[in-house]
Amino acid sequence: MAIVIIDQDRCKGCGLCVAFCPKDNLQIGDQLNTAGLKPAVVKSQENCTGCKICALMCPEACIEIYRETAEVVAGE
Ligand code: SF4
Ligand code: SF4
Repeated sequence: MAIVIIDQDRCKGCGLCVAFCPKDNLQIGDQLNTAGLKPAVVKSQENCTGCKICALMCPEACIEIYRETAEVVAGE
């Protein structure tokens, strides 16, 4: 699982991230942003693998991906 954050006001709603997500985990939302455009939204954070393809494809660079880091715990 990874956390995907799309800056709703910078997104132009071009749909590139939607088209390229291998998990079909993004869609164009119904809400208008401050520019009067419909930005992309995440369907399910749980379904995201953190592959970063959406962030790499975005021409506006308005997607951030946060992956959980494994915490290494030393034995007792
Ligand atoms: S990081 Fe990968 S799986 Fe997650 S929303 Fe973006 S393209 Fe889809
Ligand atoms: S690729 Fe970027 S600008 Fe285009 S819909 Fe996705 S988040 Fe918005």
